[in-house]
Amino acid sequence: MYWEQDVETMAREQLEALQLKRLKATLERAALSPFYGRLFAESAFNPSDVKSLEDLKALPTTTKDDLREGWPYGFLAVPREELVRMHSSSGTTGRATVIFHTRHDIEAWTNLMARCMYMTGMRRSDVFQNMMTYGLFTGGLGFHYGAERIGALVIPAGAGNSKRQIQLMRDFETTVIHIIPSYALHLSTVFGELNLDPRDTKVRMAYLGAEPHSENMRRKIEEIYGFKGYNSYGLSEMNGPGVAFECPHQSGLHIWEDSFFVEILDPVTLNPVPEGAEGELVMTTLNREGMPIIRYRTKDLTRIVPGQCPCGRTHRRIERIKGRTDDMLIIKGVNIFPIQIEKRLMGIPGVGKNFLIVLEREGYNDTMTVKVEVEKEFFDGDLKNLERLRRHIVEELKSDILITPRVDLVGPGTLPQTEGKARRVMDNRKE
Ligand code: AMP
Ligand code: ZN
Repeated sequence: MYWEQDVETMAREQLEALQLKRLKATLERAALSPFYGRLFAESAFNPSDVKSLEDLKALPTTTKDDLREGWPYGFLAVPREELVRMHSSSGTTGRATVIFHTRHDIEAWTNLMARCMYMTGMRRSDVFQNMMTYGLFTGGLGFHYGAERIGALVIPAGAGNSKRQIQLMRDFETTVIHIIPSYALHLSTVFGELNLDPRDTKVRMAYLGAEPHSENMRRKIEEIYGFKGYNSYGLSEMNGPGVAFECPHQSGLHIWEDSFFVEILDPVTLNPVPEGAEGELVMTTLNREGMPIIRYRTKDLTRIVPGQCPCGRTHRRIERIKGRTDDMLIIKGVNIFPIQIEKRLMGIPGVGKNFLIVLEREGYNDTMTVKVEVEKEFFDGDLKNLERLRRHIVEELKSDILITPRVDLVGPGTLPQTEGKARRVMDNRKE
């Protein structure tokens, strides 16, 4: 049941000792990079003075802007010849950043991915279809290497081409898939177009990741396909996937603390939040040679799940990501995360598989319209029912976000659909 029992179930004291040892080595290495070399010199920080994990807090956080400033090689701690791979962020916001790996780094990342998938029950006998973009995006090769390490048969399907995905799944009796949640819903409609039942495959589990999604969304996907969905979290700056993953107990995602030092900070003051409170996830790589990153601000909001997991793993759990600090919408003075809207919508019967939040400015006021795809039966049915559903959605949303949004119901498949991360917000407020 464990990929590496000793590491996964290591007593906290021992785990923290390992973290300290690796932190020291990471800081020594980082000092060799132009960016951290300069930063350490300017702040008179000497890695050899570090005596405890707390001492890390003497250093400032690193941001995406810092990484951009250091473009392309400013964070390298090894000579170029040591590098074997480059990846980049998919540019969730703004320009992409690049990350470089040595052979050791790829090996360590592969091992983390194998650890995640093994934890959920992937074995050599599985057929794994990876429906993520290969190439610069980390979701392709990251999972690919990990699944091969376990010894599963890997189908590197890549993203998109839905009909072929379904055919591969059926012909080769795929048992495990990796898929973006919004794409999973879209793919289910393609099953319908082919007069096939999404439940009628051998797929028994799916890794759902790369974008925020609610528990309701997971349930909806599980319900449609009849498989179990596991939440997979990561970001390119910390390798990509393999940072945090759900175990079979599914109460939060184990974050691999032998490889990442975790802090949850108040995004405004950058002070640590009390244990268990929500804040921004900030991480330091503990096992990376090529490009160590210290106190990286992910902008992702989460909290540490208190207590121990019955699975016996001692690595702490983070709660499902609530959204990014830069995803937050402020409408009429109210802070709203797109995922709050997604969560409500996905719990309402009759709501279809896609939605879009459109922001507009009317005079001095911002308005929010939520366009919601509805199920075919509703859309083609009685207008009165449709209006009832619309009002119900308005009420549901209002009770959560506290303002009254406009809601437009649209037909299935009419909103824009991407093969990658969903774009939930269209902001037309620009002057
Ligand atoms: P990238 O580096 O381009 O792959 O993007 C990483 C970002 O995707 C993270 O910082 C999160 O904002 C988002 N992300 C990835 N996986 C998840 C997940 N399971 N839940 C929520 N957000 C996620
Ligand atoms: Zn667990």
